[in-house]
Amino acid sequence: MKMQLGEIARAVSAQNDTSNWDEIEVSSVAFDSRHLDSGALFVPLEGERDGHEFVQGALKNGAVATLWKADHGAVPTDIPVLVVEDPLKSLQALSKYYLLKINPKVVAITGSNGKTTTKDMVASVLATQFNVTKTKDNFNNEIGVPVTILSMESNTEIMVIEMGMDRPGQLDFLSKLVSPDVAVITMIGEAHIEFFGTRDKIADAKMEITHGLKEDGTFIYDGDEPLLTERAKQIDQRQMTFGRQETDDIYSTSIQTTDTQTSFTTNQAPDETVVVPMIGDYNVNNALAALSVAKIFHISPKAATDAFKDLNLTKNRAEWVPGATGERILSDVYNSNPTAVKEVMAAFTKVATEGQRRVVLGDMLELGNESDDLHASLKSAFDPKLIQDVYLVGPHMHALYSALQDLYDSDHLHLYETDQQAKLIAQLQADIKPTDIVLIKGSHGIHLEDVLAALQ
Ligand code: ATP
Ligand code: MG
Repeated sequence: MKMQLGEIARAVSAQNDTSNWDEIEVSSVAFDSRHLDSGALFVPLEGERDGHEFVQGALKNGAVATLWKADHGAVPTDIPVLVVEDPLKSLQALSKYYLLKINPKVVAITGSNGKTTTKDMVASVLATQFNVTKTKDNFNNEIGVPVTILSMESNTEIMVIEMGMDRPGQLDFLSKLVSPDVAVITMIGEAHIEFFGTRDKIADAKMEITHGLKEDGTFIYDGDEPLLTERAKQIDQRQMTFGRQETDDIYSTSIQTTDTQTSFTTNQAPDETVVVPMIGDYNVNNALAALSVAKIFHISPKAATDAFKDLNLTKNRAEWVPGATGERILSDVYNSNPTAVKEVMAAFTKVATEGQRRVVLGDMLELGNESDDLHASLKSAFDPKLIQDVYLVGPHMHALYSALQDLYDSDHLHLYETDQQAKLIAQLQADIKPTDIVLIKGSHGIHLEDVLAALQ
């Protein structure tokens, strides 16, 4: 982004006289005083601490100006400052202003799982023909989306934005902020069910991504999810569905998996085999969503298929890493929920090995009242012939531990509290043989990345 402070002052309706500073060149926005580029506009947000405490530090680190909340005590007079009612709202308003100024097409992506993966796939496919900016990392909330928009190069033709939500109203706000040309829902799962209670309510909240959809826009969604097909009837805009069924607009016709990749063909282009460099059949759905978006932008199936050959993926997906004794570890330690665990376990049990398959599972967080039942429900993913050893970590995993008692004896089923990582690591180090394969998955809060690091 490149704007003069005067233009920004107008966009955020600054309340003070900024004429002395109007020509200051601003090249980015930042809300963390420790991580900013010189030329940044600092945005003091309310977090655990008040962002205004960090204004001086931000200026020392290269910020050229700051926002300042009007009712926040004395306004500093010795630095370029824009006085506003609410810095977060100003950040959002500025992002909207900048989005309209650059005016790219916008693809907005939500879903209980697969947002980041799909975002990366969509961006890679569109980048074959357009200048594309996409959400960095996982910047998908009321702060992340504006920051993403303001990081856009001025020649951007399509902006691919991941949108997360953990409560009703959030996607309504984000969708109206960006007015997408294409809105995508990857799937409905159980993530954040703690706050919603039912999958129906999750689906209602996800549908809010269509609230800002342009009239000539397109709504793309998992056509095999009745909660979505039912709700899509209320949507006037053009629609496209993807999935595994012949009733979908784009569906996979054959799926083939290896240890490291998943390939498939579609009804739209039976001669083009799409190879996704990741395991997990669910990635077929993510890829189908991306192919649907490609179609909207008139990218040929061949070009879209080719784009998967050099996918540019954000890190932290399920990936194989070598363990210290030669074993292979499938690491997926970044987030976890019941659908994701079942999917990744299905993929893991298909991977051939001459040794044992070992599974380390940490608690799935934020599942609310149903949490123990949902943990116990993972039992259906276990078959002692396919998965020989199980290591469970966390208070909710007690429920799965009990459920698995009739499948496993105590030599092959272990339970640890969250603070017993050292014991778990010692057990794994004693058990693991070079020919084994190991799956490690859990919510980020369980910190299985430390277990992974110890095994590497
Ligand atoms: P977050 O809410 O953390 O931003 P996300 O929606 O961006 O998550 P990804 O980061 O793309 O999701 O994927 C996270 C994990 O979710 C994957 O490693 C996999 O286990 C599971 N997953 C991804 N896509 C799907 C899908 N379409 N269906 C079911 N599970 C999926
Ligand atoms: Mg994500």
